[in-house]
Amino acid sequence: MRKHRIGIAFFYHESHSYSPMKTEIEQFRNEGYFIGDEIYDAYIGTKTEVGGFLDVLKQEKDVEIVPLLCAAAIPSGVVSTEAYSIIEKQMLESIQQAGGLDGLLLALHGAMVVEDLFDPEEHLLGKIRELIGPSVPIATTLDMHANLSEKMIHYTPLHFGFKTYPHVDMYEQGVHASIALLKQLKEGVNYYASFEKLPMMPPSINMRTAEGPMHKMIEWAKQAEEEEGIYNVSVFGGFPYSDIPMVGASVLVVSLNPQKGKETAQKMASLFWSVREEFIMELPDVKEGLNLSLAIEDDKPIVLADISDNPLSCGSGDTTELLREMVHMNIPDTLFGGLYDPESIEACRKAGAGNKVSLSLGGKVSPEFGEPVQVEATVVALSDGIFHNSGPSISIYESI
Ligand SMILES: [Zn+2]
Repeated sequence: MRKHRIGIAFFYHESHSYSPMKTEIEQFRNEGYFIGDEIYDAYIGTKTEVGGFLDVLKQEKDVEIVPLLCAAAIPSGVVSTEAYSIIEKQMLESIQQAGGLDGLLLALHGAMVVEDLFDPEEHLLGKIRELIGPSVPIATTLDMHANLSEKMIHYTPLHFGFKTYPHVDMYEQGVHASIALLKQLKEGVNYYASFEKLPMMPPSINMRTAEGPMHKMIEWAKQAEEEEGIYNVSVFGGFPYSDIPMVGASVLVVSLNPQKGKETAQKMASLFWSVREEFIMELPDVKEGLNLSLAIEDDKPIVLADISDNPLSCGSGDTTELLREMVHMNIPDTLFGGLYDPESIEACRKAGAGNKVSLSLGGKVSPEFGEPVQVEATVVALSDGIFHNSGPSISIYESI
């Protein structure tokens, strides 16, 4: 029996056009770069898109998994042309060297920006389509923050967006993409894509799916998926910090009936438009936020997030206004978690645990958002920084 040969690949980055930090090939190599069989060790058993691909495909006796290339880096500034070109070249070579593929599963983000490419995912899909021909099925997974362009659906109708934020359903979408691809391959199912782009860039602060407008959108999407002829509905909030023409929100309906798909996409787009004002939130400044936290009477810990410097949404993670105010207010029993500062880490390492050290903390990448904070500190402990996350998502590449 000839097996269906299905390729698996992953190219993932969320890019902030206004960050001063460029994303180079080292970031991909240091954080998640796997070729061929290395992909099994890296992703099998993980709650990631690739983990979902692998779990579905390995159960199919008539499928041969062809692991190609996985490259992912933590969200940051735009990807350098050089880094993108190296990965694209290796991706295309791996497909070429794999010989004939019958299908391809591709995990993408959808909000990557490259120095000289506004829509690298579309560019990559175009190159892959050129290489493998027009009839080989391709299915992708995309982040809810994807800035999807209509061109993406020219290459395949099968795109599956995350339905949760924080993203904890990457694995499930990997499973859905795999099942849809197998149905096309084995049963000859024909899918149609209906796409609606909205002229809006909702801020991600109020895009959580537990409550608020995005909760409503996802519930409506799930209801629509129950209707006959509708296969999948993705709602993309977009990533507003990508300075590109295709930035912003969109809706994509994968259907078995193009007319029904089009009507559903239009309906979802008009619902999206109707809740647009609900995405806007009034946020407290640093001082107000701290005072609000102190006013809460509860035994449980209170988490105060500086959302404008979220490192997993491309922030540099070294802005200091919150730290400065916390030091100034001298609040007992508090912890300041996560500051990107390799120089200070090195100084602490040299001093050693239990010793005193003078530090100039943070404020090095983007000093316009807060100068370094001068402190006399004690090194309490040093760690290699490796930890195991046993939460619902175990991918370090999740953008939150
Ligand atoms: Zn995201």
